[in-house]
Amino acid sequence: MNNLMLSFSGADLERLRTLVGAVGSEVAHVSGTAPQPEIPGPRTALHTTWSALVDMLDLGTTPEMRECPECGHQGMSDATRCGFCWINLPALKTKSAA
Ligand SMILES: [Zn+2]
Repeated sequence: MNNLMLSFSGADLERLRTLVGAVGSEVAHVSGTAPQPEIPGPRTALHTTWSALVDMLDLGTTPEMRECPECGHQGMSDATRCGFCWINLPALKTKSAA
């Protein structure tokens, strides 16, 4: 059995997470917000397969994303620099429990 170790670093990992998140929302959109489990179909299969793939990739917890104020590029919310235009990002305010 192959023991393929995928390793992504820095911007690649960030980009991969972004893509996975994007496809994930597409899959969720296709699946619909109210799936009908009694009628399994290609949509459910797609969702299941996608979940398995994400599981295999094991990217860890998807960090919260935020938009770069300069270029609009999506980056991790706790990043100190934009991964695209490299401007310094302002520190995030700590969330207060509502
Ligand atoms: Zn930027």
